[in-house]
Amino acid sequence: MVLVIGVDTSCDDTSVAVVDVSSHQVLSNVRYTQAVHEIFGGVVPEFASRYHLEILPKLWAKALKEAGMDEKDMDYFAVTASPGLIGSLVVGLNFVKAMAAVYNKKFYIVDHLFAHAWIGTWTKSFTYPALFLVVSGGHTELYYMNKLGDFELLAKTRDDAAGELIDKVGREYGLGYPAGPEVDKIVMNRWQNGLSVKPYPLPKVDYSSFSFSGWKTRAIYNLKKFLSDTTGDVDIDEKRCEELHVLMDSVAEQLLSRVEYWLEKKNVECVVIGGGVAASSYIRKRFEEFGNRRCLKVSFTPRKFCPDNGAMVAAAVEYALTFGSRPWVDFGDYFSDAASHSVFLR
Ligand code: ADP
Ligand code: MG
Repeated sequence: MVLVIGVDTSCDDTSVAVVDVSSHQVLSNVRYTQAVHEIFGGVVPEFASRYHLEILPKLWAKALKEAGMDEKDMDYFAVTASPGLIGSLVVGLNFVKAMAAVYNKKFYIVDHLFAHAWIGTWTKSFTYPALFLVVSGGHTELYYMNKLGDFELLAKTRDDAAGELIDKVGREYGLGYPAGPEVDKIVMNRWQNGLSVKPYPLPKVDYSSFSFSGWKTRAIYNLKKFLSDTTGDVDIDEKRCEELHVLMDSVAEQLLSRVEYWLEKKNVECVVIGGGVAASSYIRKRFEEFGNRRCLKVSFTPRKFCPDNGAMVAAAVEYALTFGSRPWVDFGDYFSDAASHSVFLR
């Protein structure tokens, strides 16, 4: 057994997990999504840090209790150090650093995007060479893994992330924060009723980029248009749902277009999808259909490991133990004195 306790406080989720990285067994994975941000329709960084400070010690104790262990049983501690809200990251980093000092343990600092991607290698159906799509509230990135552990960045968003688009449009359409799960339900409902839509045209950017901010303006503009209808002929509720369907369908199309393009360029056996938006049933459906059509294996990160979670942070330590630390472009100088080792994606 190689036991790791992993912490993520990068945004508005506080999460701690205990994982045996040698057998890929997650012994506990506790999460608290901070409800306070709902009032504001988006994350307020100052509140996020303060809630992490209050909640993290409790979740730390809970994760260990659920695993039936204590700090002394752990081989390593791990924490997300980047990217994320700086105030929130500092809370997690300093907490784990202090704990590591108290219990005299080695600790790893982990890149959040790497963690989202790496946990995808733990799914049963995973094989490589593979494409990794990480779609979350803050990021949309596509990586290629030629051999185990070798990541190459192929595409990233040049403006908003896919989850950010869905949340911001959803908020304007009167849904709570984050709107992703609610939008997904609406779209799945329409899809199950056999309704289809025409997606927005793809943005005119190269295949090394994603771009979502233009669609945000478009969806909000369309809302204003049908809300200002004075003829009384427009069923507003129906129009809202239809436009959200178009939005989600467009997101799926853009994600698939990048995957399809890079499939032609690279030798690929498997496509792995992770990050909060990968919990979407509609996105999963679209990728499943695509995989069947192309006789390509699509490996979905289990839903409990899609949003930010401590288990993926702990899992990332497997990489450092297997391949050594800091494999990619080094932006970790600022942190290098703080941690025993680091696992960075760029
Ligand atoms: P970040 O790391 O950027 O904080 P996460 O990986 O936690 O983000 O993902 C959060 C995002 O996932 C939000 O934009 C949220 O709306 C979206 N999301 C969560 N569940 C679903 C779902 N079922 N369908 C669509 N989007 C979802
Ligand atoms: Mg995330």
